[in-house]
Amino acid sequence: MSDSIPAHIRAELDVTPAWWDQQYHALVTKHIPRDLDYHADHDLDDGIQFYASSYSIAPWCITCGIRLGRTPDG
Ligand SMILES: [Zn+2]
Repeated sequence: MSDSIPAHIRAELDVTPAWWDQQYHALVTKHIPRDLDYHADHDLDDGIQFYASSYSIAPWCITCGIRLGRTPDG
């Protein structure tokens, strides 16, 4: 390889606006309440059945882009 950029600098260069958007989105969604009352006026999709066997079905809030019922990190 002729790449002269050290790995740790390469990693910093690879941090893109999209990555920051992702971090921001993760932070925001982390603070959105998961209770149904909060999302009552939002677009909810509770028709997802794929995980029925191994997962208790929680509605997906299309407006917020999160799944209700449980937080991602427990
Ligand atoms: Zn919502």
